Amino acid sequence: MHLARFPRIFLAHLPTPLERLDRLSKELGGPEIWIKRDDCTGLSTGGNKTRKLEFLMAEAIAQGADTVITQGATQSNHARQTAAFSAKLGLACHILLEDRTGSNDANYNTNGNVLLDHLHGATTSRRAGGVDMAAEMEVLADQLREQGRKPYVIPGGGSNPTGALGYVNCAFELVGQANDRGLVIDHIVTATGSAGTQAGLITGLKAMNAGIPLLGIGVRAPKEKQEENVFALAQRTADKLGCPGVVSRADVVADSTYVGAGYGIPRADTLEAIQMFAQLEGLLLDPVYSGKGAAGLIDLVRKGHFKKGQRIVFLHTGGAAGLFGYDAVFADKRKALEV
Ligand SMILES: *Cc1c(COP(=O)(O)O)cnc(C)c1O
Repeated sequence: MHLARFPRIFLAHLPTPLERLDRLSKELGGPEIWIKRDDCTGLSTGGNKTRKLEFLMAEAIAQGADTVITQGATQSNHARQTAAFSAKLGLACHILLEDRTGSNDANYNTNGNVLLDHLHGATTSRRAGGVDMAAEMEVLADQLREQGRKPYVIPGGGSNPTGALGYVNCAFELVGQANDRGLVIDHIVTATGSAGTQAGLITGLKAMNAGIPLLGIGVRAPKEKQEENVFALAQRTADKLGCPGVVSRADVVADSTYVGAGYGIPRADTLEAIQMFAQLEGLLLDPVYSGKGAAGLIDLVRKGHFKKGQRIVFLHTGGAAGLFGYDAVFADKRKALEV
């Protein structure tokens, strides 16, 4: 397997740092917790979509596209990063935003990632929650083709085999860093949504026979459905890489205990996780993805699922720009600190 065979636009700030979280580890009294800083990938405050877009945008350019279309929830980090990448390449960008939460909050609807989408010059149109967004993107792509444009459609979250190559690359990078410093990784934990991150990581880990288990903390779908989505994409990614069958169903593990009322709706433990990372480590998580992922990590450590002496790597997938769309959920915490 040789990633250099695939078209790629080198734009991410790589390798991202791998750091030990001393105060969080001490507070929880369990394993040594490390963090892989994919919130530092660059591109409009960074996040996990940068790695995927390196491969997706290269494909768009190779196909002669002049316009990029993608979709996501209102506070989509993927939309913001796609808008920024499009700006960098001089491509038009149109984003379909799905109202998955039904929130009327002004900041949710116009601040945070939405503010940045527009700053990068992307145009946006809103769709009701539950609409078939892939079909909506095809309708728009047809309209643009009729106008003589060349659209390139990126699926939600950039999660297809091309985008997942970015996380195959991350698996190589992470294991390389661990090897270089003699760090034995016992488990990797990450938030999992549209599945590309977990699918790419597990494909890369299995392809190099790393022997490191990966746990995805779900942010939307129930466990079984999430695992099926990740497994299906991992199989297609392995095919694309030329190592078919390298991932087995048992390698794909997701835990959807921490989703709560639904996608984009934080639970109390999501907010607690955000506060712990912010106050113990000076790190920013987000209320939709990394906060739920970290809530899962913290709960599993507290329950003894990970043992003292083990080394756990939490993949920080970014998302802090979304905090500014969610200021209302921190109102109580703010009041308590305004003395
Ligand atoms: C998109 C996203 C995820 C989930 O990654 P998937 O590849 O969609 O599973 C996690 N964290 C953040 C901050 C994201 O924006």
